[in-house]
Amino acid sequence: MGRYIGGVCKLCRREGEKLYLKGERCVSGKCSLNKRRYGPGDHGRRRKKDTDYRIRLREKQKVRFYYGLMESQFKNCFRAASRMRGVTGENLLQLLELRLDNIVYRSGFGVSRAQARQLVSHRHFQVDGRPVNIPSQRLRLNQVVSVREKSRANQASPIYGAIESRGSRGKLPPRWLEVNDEQLTILVTEMPKREDIVDIPINEQLIVELYSK
Ligand code: SF4
Repeated sequence: MGRYIGGVCKLCRREGEKLYLKGERCVSGKCSLNKRRYGPGDHGRRRKKDTDYRIRLREKQKVRFYYGLMESQFKNCFRAASRMRGVTGENLLQLLELRLDNIVYRSGFGVSRAQARQLVSHRHFQVDGRPVNIPSQRLRLNQVVSVREKSRANQASPIYGAIESRGSRGKLPPRWLEVNDEQLTILVTEMPKREDIVDIPINEQLIVELYSK
């Protein structure tokens, strides 16, 4: 599966909003958005016409960049959400929140989703005692994510650094995750709800409208 490897600050600048893709830098004065509050590229400063389509497309792109998904992965997630009972937009956000890389990031074991994704791919974690390396794995209620013994023994592991700097990033674990920093475990105690996603403003209805056309 391909992935975006360009500069991530460009993505925030294109959306005109902080998407918190770079860990501590995002909450420091070094955030690119503080210095350049316009889109990237030669035409970044041009005023864009806000058509209905553009508004919906930008909302979808914003959420896609925020969770670090490629278009096909995002579309698959939307399809799965539309097959579930309930409100499709809320289902979509719930499925995105339940991804393993997101859970590692939310718990503070990675400074960004990109780092969390890399840690998962490099087999630093296990789910219910089984080693995993698929960042998109969707967790279920009462499943336990833990750091593998070998990674736990490595004091230079970025996991320890991420836990230490969690407070300065201002990213405390959400109420639906029970995080144990001593045992290095994360327990999914509840399914995430819409009101749990508060770091960036999202209008999920616009995404539903975009894909429903
Ligand atoms: Fe870059 Fe983070 Fe600022 Fe976005 S929020 S522009 S990723 S430093």
